[in-house]
Amino acid sequence: MQVPAQVEYEKASSVEHALALLARYAPGARVLAGGHSLIPMMKLRLAQPEVLIDINGIRGLRYIERAGGELRIGALARHADLLAAPLAGEHFTILHDAERVIADPIVRNWGTIGGSLCQADPSEDLSAAFAAMKGTMVIQGLDGSREVSAREFHTGPYETVVGPAELLTEIRLPIRPGGGSGYQKVSRRAGDWPVGAAGAAVWLTGDVIADAGIGLAAVGATHFVAAEAEQYLRGRPATEESLQRAGEIAAANCRPVSDQRGPAEYKRHLAGELTVRVLRVAVGRARDQARVRSVASQGRA
Ligand SMILES: Cc1cc2nc3c(=O)[nH]c(=O)nc-3n(C[C@H](O)[C@H](O)[C@H](O)COP(=O)(O)OP(=O)(O)OC[C@H]3O[C@@H](n4cnc5c(N)ncnc54)[C@H](O)[C@@H]3O)c2cc1C
Repeated sequence: MQVPAQVEYEKASSVEHALALLARYAPGARVLAGGHSLIPMMKLRLAQPEVLIDINGIRGLRYIERAGGELRIGALARHADLLAAPLAGEHFTILHDAERVIADPIVRNWGTIGGSLCQADPSEDLSAAFAAMKGTMVIQGLDGSREVSAREFHTGPYETVVGPAELLTEIRLPIRPGGGSGYQKVSRRAGDWPVGAAGAAVWLTGDVIADAGIGLAAVGATHFVAAEAEQYLRGRPATEESLQRAGEIAAANCRPVSDQRGPAEYKRHLAGELTVRVLRVAVGRARDQARVRSVASQGRA
C-alpha cells in the first residue's frame, strides 16, 4: 500500500488564519479541502507538501447564495451541495448537468468546488461549465482579494493563478436574462472522468444568439474555451445550421491528445458532436424560459 511522506498538519479556523498559516509555511504548504485529489497524489509522491493546512473548519466558506445579480459559491461548497441547490438549478442548469456526471456520491459528498478548480486537471468538468458561464474566481491573500476570469484561472495542466500563499474563496456567476445552458460528457463508465465533455450557454434576444459561451474538458492540456465558435454564433439566428457550424469550429480548434481514454481524433469528433448537442440543449432551455416569462407576464396583465 502506498503511503504519503511524513507531513505536518494545521487546522485553520478562518480564512485569515489559513492565510497566515500559508504565509508562514509557503511554499512548502498545501491547502487540504476534500482531499480526494491531494491525498492520492501524496500517496503516489506526486505531491510532497511539508505542511497541510486543513480548511474544512472554516464555516464561512461553504455556501451557495444569490447576491448582487450573481450566484456566489463558496470554495468549500461540496459537489453534493451544488447538485442539491435549487438556486443553481433555477439559473444554471449546466451546473446540475455537470454535477450529475462527476464521480460518485462518495466523492461528491466531500469533494469541494474550490478543490476541483484548484486541482486544475484538464479533464475536470466544472471548469468547463464555469468558463461557459463566464464566471469569476475570487482569490484572497493577506494583502486583500482579487478577481480572475474563469477563462484565465488555469495556466497549464495542474496549474492555476492562485499563489502559494493565497486561497480561492469564491466563484461568482452572473445571472443574465434570456439564457439557457447545458453540459454533456462521454466517459467510459458511470462516474468516470470524461473522454470528452462540453458545456455551453447561450443568451437569446428573440431567436438571435446575443452571446454564447462554450467550454470543453479533456480535449487539450488545459480547459478549452471555444472562443472562435462563440464569436461565430454571436448575432446569428439559433438555427441547426449555425449550431452545426459552431461545432465544426470548436472541433477544428481544440488540441486533444491520445491517451488511455481514447485516440485524439475520437476526442476531436466528440468535441464537435458534444458542442452541437449542448448548444441545442442550451437554446431549447433559453426558449423555454422565454415562454415561461411570456405566460407569466400575460397572467399578470
Ligand atoms: C474516484 C474519483 C473520480 C472522480 N471523477 C471526477 C469526474 O468525473 N469529474 C471531475 O471533474 N472530477 C472528478 N474527480 C475529482 C474530484 O471532483 C476532485 O478530486 C475533488 O472534487 C477535488 O476537490 P477536493 O476538495 O477533494 O480537493 P483537494 O484534494 O483537497 O485539493 C486539490 C488541490 O486543490 C488545492 N486546493 C483545494 N482547495 C483550495 C482553495 N480553496 N484554495 C487554494 N487551493 C485549494 C489543494 O491544495 C490541492 O492542490 C474524481 C475524483 C475521484 C477520487
